[in-house]
Amino acid sequence: MRTVALKIDVDTDRGTRDGVLPLANICRRHHAPATFFFSLGPDHTGRAIRRVFRPGFFSKVARTHVAGNYGWKTLLYGTLLPGPHIGRRHAAIMRRVADLGFETGIHCHDHFTWQDYVHSMSPDQVRHQLDLAASTYHDIFGVPARCAAAPGWQACPASLAAYDTLGLDYASDTRGLGPFLPKIGTATFRTPQIPTDLPTLDERLGLPGRTLEAITAEIVHLASQPGFHVLTAHAELEGLRYAPWFDTLLRAFNQAGIEIVPLHDGLSTELPTVNLIQGEVEGRSGQVAVRAIGTFTRIPA
Ligand SMILES: [Zn+2]
Repeated sequence: MRTVALKIDVDTDRGTRDGVLPLANICRRHHAPATFFFSLGPDHTGRAIRRVFRPGFFSKVARTHVAGNYGWKTLLYGTLLPGPHIGRRHAAIMRRVADLGFETGIHCHDHFTWQDYVHSMSPDQVRHQLDLAASTYHDIFGVPARCAAAPGWQACPASLAAYDTLGLDYASDTRGLGPFLPKIGTATFRTPQIPTDLPTLDERLGLPGRTLEAITAEIVHLASQPGFHVLTAHAELEGLRYAPWFDTLLRAFNQAGIEIVPLHDGLSTELPTVNLIQGEVEGRSGQVAVRAIGTFTRIPA
């Protein structure tokens, strides 16, 4: 049986408000389970504007029309405008997603802080970020979070240790093929990782000359290969401008005989212990957490 699991990252106030329910409705139309990972604290996306000044980033921004996809107001949150508290503003939408039967989990407290600083924060600071998110999650859903997926695929020993302390069922912070128990250096962690192996829409849109049809064909082809496949989508893209594309993709999975299964189905097999390292993914700037061995290398362009 060929399968794929859907992981939905929700990064911003606007994505939560306008992108989440349309995405949930597309999944329902295709009887597709999906796990929604919410950003639960302040939207400080504007601070990420600094990234524009890093070498190699601006052309990607231009190509993928970040302002159009995220909105100018979003790009000012945390700089010229105060960042709205996403969890407080949109608790009803988040609960609605759970009521519709979707699994929910923690993306972060503050997306910008985690993505840019998790490697330089102290273990206590990392734990504090996760505790803030876990506490807001509990307030919203009335139960503790069972899973998490870190912003920008950023993981480090402190974040994996914090997951272990929370006792999560699993996390999905990494790139690569196949669930595993992560190891960094001599430290082994208890919380399994269910990595994303398929390329994301924004990574492919960032490459020159890619049509949406070609991106669909590539993802369906990769998901047809053996292994537990995971696709990450973003409420800000696949829930808004690219919602019709996402609908087409789910139809293409169905036509190819690929079943969409819950993300936690990745836990059903015995998990190997594998090193978690820093690596690169085509179409994405900077380094991300990668499953060190297995079939994953750089995803071919
Ligand atoms: Zn994110």
